[in-house]
Amino acid sequence: MKLHEYQAKEILARYGIPIPRGQVAETGTQAGNAAFRLGGRVVVKAQVHAGGRGKGGGIKLVRSDIEAGLAALDMLGSRLVTPQTGPEGVPVQKVLVEQAVDLRRELYLGIIIDPANGLPVIMASDAGGMEIEEVAAATPERILKVSVDPVIGFQPFQGRAVAYALGLEPAQVQPAVTLIGNLYRAFMEHDGSLLEINPLVVTGEGRLLALDAKFNIEDNALFRHPELEALRDIEQEDPLEVQARGMGINNYIKLHGDIGCVVNGAGLAMATMDLIKLAGGEPANFLDIGTVNDVGRVTNAFQVLSTDPAVKAIFINIFGGLARVDIIAEGIIESFRSGKVSVPVVTRLAGTNVAEGKRMLAEAGIPVTQVDSLNEAAKAAVRLAVGA
Ligand code: GDP
Ligand code: MN
Repeated sequence: MKLHEYQAKEILARYGIPIPRGQVAETGTQAGNAAFRLGGRVVVKAQVHAGGRGKGGGIKLVRSDIEAGLAALDMLGSRLVTPQTGPEGVPVQKVLVEQAVDLRRELYLGIIIDPANGLPVIMASDAGGMEIEEVAAATPERILKVSVDPVIGFQPFQGRAVAYALGLEPAQVQPAVTLIGNLYRAFMEHDGSLLEINPLVVTGEGRLLALDAKFNIEDNALFRHPELEALRDIEQEDPLEVQARGMGINNYIKLHGDIGCVVNGAGLAMATMDLIKLAGGEPANFLDIGTVNDVGRVTNAFQVLSTDPAVKAIFINIFGGLARVDIIAEGIIESFRSGKVSVPVVTRLAGTNVAEGKRMLAEAGIPVTQVDSLNEAAKAAVRLAVGA
């Protein structure tokens, strides 16, 4: 789950990390008033779940409260397109009005969970700011990575290594070590998957300040953080994914193809998508219904897929271990009977009670193509999607 910049900064502030003074606004008037209180020279920042706002017109440096109000009016209610969004953009419903900062240097500081070793890794670069992606691609040696062992915790010597790599002056080293340690604590205590300050700036007076903040929380740990779940902004999320979550299907991710997939198990779901692509098709989604013996879950999955107008065929790939194929079949039949399906369906079923499940489907008088081979099933789904 992604947090907004203003939400991330509230958390950082609680951990003693210096941030600019600022205020959230939902109308031009509120933004103007906030700018007045902050002294007029402010930055108006669109609050969206996407980076690259500076390049997309979502960051405006202004000199007066009136200009701030106008900049906010311009952004609020519009959709912001940045290099990190699709062409449809994301809706802007709030702006953050912050005191403008006189900055000397822009640095990069972030923490992610390194997929290679499963450890939190601190990343830092003296080339922070809007071009960090280009720096990572062209000159990766300009990014220092320091892995932290979560059992031992963050060590000050690691903070000093980062501070030196950032080229900080001696007087800034100790504050930087404290800041990095606090950032690490904020990341761990919220079960973060990514926490990024870009840019971390050195101000005209030589102070460190978190000018931007991006904080993503690990979805699988959200149950431990009801206070973070409350910060969710569903307006920024894909409506189909929101609908799926509301139906208890947590592992649905909307993609750009036209073949809807219903699969049990994340690994099988990945393999299914690979086979669809190999057969020349494009999956419309990733969907792991999990190990379930619940007809309602199958009909809910169909409900979600049929809400997506892009879906031209549905591929059901089930390997029933603890899940029973006959119950899945019942769900498929029920989905047809209640009118939830209007596109061709291909099934590839294996495992517990498979004979019973297949017989039920065959006798139900519904247009389902049953295929036993995984490869052939994927090809059939692609053919049917094209035919439709
Ligand atoms: P992003 O483009 O979505 O990452 O948004 P940022 O919050 O990182 O802002 C983009 C850029 O705007 C920063 O890298 C800075 O160069 C600039 N910027 C943002 N706030 C200020 C400010 O208070 N003063 C100055 N001079 N520049 C700012
Ligand atoms: Mn940024």
